[in-house]
Amino acid sequence: MSPTTIPLDHLVPEYIKHFEAYIPSKPDDELKKLYGCDPLYRLNNNENPLGPPPAAKAVLEHFAAQKAAIYPSGDAYHLRQALAEKFDLDPDQFLVGNGANEVIAFVIKAFCQKGDNIVTADKTFAVYEWIAEFSGFSARLTPLSDFGFDADAMLEAIDERTKILFVCNPNNPTGTHWNRKQLINFMDQVDGRQIVVIDEAYCEFVENEDFPDGMELLRQYPNLVVFRTFSKMYALAGLRIGYLAGSLEVVDIIRRTCVVYSVNTLAQNAALKALNDDQHIQRTRNHIRQEKARLLPLLEKLGLKYQSGEGCFVMIHLPMSDTLAYRKLMAKGVMIRSMTGFRFPNWIRVSIGSTKAMTAFAQSLTEIIK
Ligand SMILES: *Cc1c(COP(=O)(O)O)cnc(C)c1O
Repeated sequence: MSPTTIPLDHLVPEYIKHFEAYIPSKPDDELKKLYGCDPLYRLNNNENPLGPPPAAKAVLEHFAAQKAAIYPSGDAYHLRQALAEKFDLDPDQFLVGNGANEVIAFVIKAFCQKGDNIVTADKTFAVYEWIAEFSGFSARLTPLSDFGFDADAMLEAIDERTKILFVCNPNNPTGTHWNRKQLINFMDQVDGRQIVVIDEAYCEFVENEDFPDGMELLRQYPNLVVFRTFSKMYALAGLRIGYLAGSLEVVDIIRRTCVVYSVNTLAQNAALKALNDDQHIQRTRNHIRQEKARLLPLLEKLGLKYQSGEGCFVMIHLPMSDTLAYRKLMAKGVMIRSMTGFRFPNWIRVSIGSTKAMTAFAQSLTEIIK
């Protein structure tokens, strides 16, 4: 006879017992019913309202269905060749994953063992912290300083069990960035003792001239690992594809923790075509600049404090709870990110969407503030 209950208590590690699952938002059709709104503008995930670059779109539209029967390239062969050419590196310096989210797990698995820790900021992209913790490693979190990563605090948080330092540049959600001098200074102080990950998910949006290109620093710093994604600027979030780059010796270690075939054929082919469309980048930046120039004066007029830097998003402080604001905005058909989960209570983050969506947001925000 099979038991009616299983000894879960004894099977589950302590760090899993104490970890809360992340609950993603429901699909649009369900949300529209729930909040009685139609249309629904999603301004919660920093997606590019312009959609994928034209050449990537063409790949998607002309995909031969029969190819779905065939496994993809297990190591994104052609995409790595193209990345190597673009950044003047070796194809073996790249690992492609099922979104940048997956490569975070590759790095942590490659370097951390029982008792080790990672260091990052308390108010940044939370997935570094989550993957470390549900894998049984602690995440040592340092407070932001003036909304930016605090290099000195991170260096101080390092102990003999620290393996990886994660820096999000520019930072999601605050939009702050380290300039070239700050990043180089940090790398020099770490002096090769830990792996330093620079997450450049939003680097293609950056307009500031002093922004450091992590790819250019790889030769100088063999302990540097750079993350990039096709989800944000290249608008392929639904296909799940991102990558990391590092020195040959470090990538050779990380490669051991990669699951082959995790990146599908469609994503690889579309990413390959998206990679060199500089016009798409210019068009997207123009749009974001334009929409920020409409949004920020409104926030001033409403007397709301905000935090806006590089990237396709703005953080806004509200005179009410962010979860209440979320519900009120949802009822008006606008979805934003409430920031309590990012340890920013009473703040929301709004992604720069289409002009239509931003107009709806401006109107709805004005109404709920009054
Ligand atoms: C969106 C995002 C990612 C992950 O993107 P994927 O969709 O998994 O490629 C990584 N880092 C930051 C800071 C992000 O905002």
